[in-house]
Amino acid sequence: SLSNRLKIVAGYLPQGARFADIGSDHAYLPAYVCQKDLDAKAIAGEVNQGPLDSAKKTIRLHQLEEQVDVRLGNGLAVLREGEADQIVIAGMGGSLITSILKNQARIAKSASRIIAQPNVDAREVRRWFEQNGFILMAEEMVEEQGHIYEVLVADKQENASSPYSNDNQKKGKQFLLGPYLVKEKNAAFIEKWTLEKANLERIISQMQQAKRVNYERMSAFQTELNWIKEELYHEG
Ligand code: SAM
Repeated sequence: SLSNRLKIVAGYLPQGARFADIGSDHAYLPAYVCQKDLDAKAIAGEVNQGPLDSAKKTIRLHQLEEQVDVRLGNGLAVLREGEADQIVIAGMGGSLITSILKNQARIAKSASRIIAQPNVDAREVRRWFEQNGFILMAEEMVEEQGHIYEVLVADKQENASSPYSNDNQKKGKQFLLGPYLVKEKNAAFIEKWTLEKANLERIISQMQQAKRVNYERMSAFQTELNWIKEELYHEG
């Protein structure tokens, strides 16, 4: 059955969704959603032929050709403007997700909801949302098979209020840790940031021992480390 990670993503699609799943691979997400919701319609986008063939196979197997259109192409180029109300981009790094959104920003902005599931660098996706008129509505952090995943849900809404602080320092911290996740602080959050803390400490000590020290980079890492420590060791 579908991974928990993708079930969480599916939970943020409305009944009768008209959505796109970019980088769909086996098209498991659109197949799952469209089997449960006969009013849902999906476009499964893939840039690579192998995964595209897998996607087509899944859709044929479940006889979902009427509901799911599998298309070959790079990122959002498989969509016309306004064709998808919801755009899902899951299972990639945050930089790749952000570059897919940037490359076809007009198409991205023609959706009312974007659901991103970055494996790393969620910060970049949060920043793109904030700078492009999408309000972060929900975040989830889950552990599955030893990996920790984040799901970010953002809506193009003028009247929703931003979850970010007006203070730039605080906002920088929220971009890194997630404004909702940092409040919730679940077990996966503690685990992820405990690991990241150890990573940063190792990187910083290596930088301190290097012959040439990039002080600007080092101080950025120090700041991040302090943010993490604040949240791991102090309540609220
Ligand atoms: N979305 C699925 C999931 O979350 O389980 C599959 C994730 S898989 C690790 C990433 C997929 O994205 C691959 O099948 C890859 O071919 C595809 N991909 C990478 N870059 C892409 C791009 N620019 N446009 C469309 N698909 C892309």
